[in-house]
Amino acid sequence: MTEQPIPAMLPLSPADIRGRRQWPLPKLADPNAPLLEVRDLKTHFRLGRAWVRAVDGVSFGLADGEALGIAGESACGKTTTALSMVQLLPGNGKIRGGSVELFGIDLVQKSERAMQRYRWREISMVFQGAMNALNPVIRVRDQIAEPIQYRLDQPEGAARQRAIDLLDMVGIPRKRADAYPHELSGGMRQRAMIAMALACDPAIVIGDEPTTALDVMVQAQILDLLERLRRDLGLSLILITHDLSVLAETCDRVLVMYAGRVAEEGPVRRIFTAPRHPYTRKLVGSFPNLHTDRRSLAVIQGQPPDLLTPPPGCRFAPRCDFAMPVCTEVVPPEVRFSDGVRVACHLFPTSDIATVGGSTLEGSTLGDMTQR
Ligand code: SF4
Repeated sequence: MTEQPIPAMLPLSPADIRGRRQWPLPKLADPNAPLLEVRDLKTHFRLGRAWVRAVDGVSFGLADGEALGIAGESACGKTTTALSMVQLLPGNGKIRGGSVELFGIDLVQKSERAMQRYRWREISMVFQGAMNALNPVIRVRDQIAEPIQYRLDQPEGAARQRAIDLLDMVGIPRKRADAYPHELSGGMRQRAMIAMALACDPAIVIGDEPTTALDVMVQAQILDLLERLRRDLGLSLILITHDLSVLAETCDRVLVMYAGRVAEEGPVRRIFTAPRHPYTRKLVGSFPNLHTDRRSLAVIQGQPPDLLTPPPGCRFAPRCDFAMPVCTEVVPPEVRFSDGVRVACHLFPTSDIATVGGSTLEGSTLGDMTQR
């Protein structure tokens, strides 16, 4: 079972990316609006008579053709954030505040029926362990053709042809298109899931741990595939993983979440070379690095808080080496620095100048940032 090389395509400039769309923008879209703006998103899960605050005030943006990585420990809210965006939450999950604006359209206000216009056509998702989610008794080509046929109202023949083209694009030979899932390797099944995510030509693809179940060689191939698709198709990617090396290779920016909130966000190089938030420092320090003489990895002592009754103030305070009295009482405001990083931590004052590790950086509140 050989996998074909991905055909080379001309890279698109950012200005071309919206023009590449095969389908018109949604009716209510503002063509000049940012691709995606998530503001103060609050998604909670009902547990008995209480609410688990899984995502509690998360904000971020995504530009055309950009790749954003979301990192953090298990249960920090990464997947819940993604599921909120496409409104595929479990029955006890509810978006209790904030907005998810796609082309200026707030998806949070949409009904389930209306969301069907946006799901897969505008935002698609490769789920955790997705390669095992293919229907074992339906040919791979037909599984990919189905959303094309029904969501885009394409005739059966055209949908099948597009499915074969998509499989070819992700490196699965055309002659393998009528295989059943069990006839493909794990790497090929994951490629097929990526082809399925691309079926309706979405603007955004969310990959939730898309390489976790794969060995390192196949993982590298899948990451290479995602990178090439992004470059060649002008896709915008959101990659969710606890594996920082995946984000370092693939993303432009990284959002670090802790206990349902954003701890730090910024350009990938800054996050990995000069992390500011104590949690990000621990997270980066706990990851092997070939370029340092570090002999042992740092351990983040303690456990994340119970989000049924999260601590007031900074949720990282019980595990933080730098915790101060204010940290246990006041939620740290977000501070933005001139190198594009924003941090929510009381170590960084919201005054005009913040001193960090001996270097002086300009800072302003997130409120200031959003006005610019
Ligand atoms: Fe640590 Fe305080 Fe910063 Fe939280 S706000 S990370 S407890 S220093």
